[in-house]
Amino acid sequence: MINIKTYDEKNIFSKILRGEIPCKTVFENEFILAFEDINPQAPVHVLIIPKENYCSLQDFSLNASDKIILEMIRSIGKISEKLELENGYRIISNIGDDGGQEVPHFHIHILGKKKMTKILP
Ligand code: AMP
Repeated sequence: MINIKTYDEKNIFSKILRGEIPCKTVFENEFILAFEDINPQAPVHVLIIPKENYCSLQDFSLNASDKIILEMIRSIGKISEKLELENGYRIISNIGDDGGQEVPHFHIHILGKKKMTKILP
């Protein structure tokens, strides 16, 4: 069961941020890391994570500073330009067990270079 209120530093994205396991970095600044998803669901599948610890978008939206919230949202536009997703893309953020979240460090999926139809398969 995913705990979306108490952060668990053993999660895999926390290990990536600490440099304990590798990732394929797409974009990085002081606040944000974006890297390729290990199991891509589209030709482009990138995950954006804040460098601060939040369990989920629920935790992030209630508790993150205005600055880091702005940086996360702004990074979506910057990364989509870098990935040349001018034809569009989809963002997803799964929250908790009912949302289908597997890794309990807040992340936004960017999926592109594929024509998406329904919101859910
Ligand atoms: P979610 O179900 O929203 O929590 O998504 C977690 C995502 O993390 C999945 O799409 C996984 O494929 C991806 N993932 C898991 N481990 C890694 C890893 N080591 N590097 C990159 N992506 C990963």
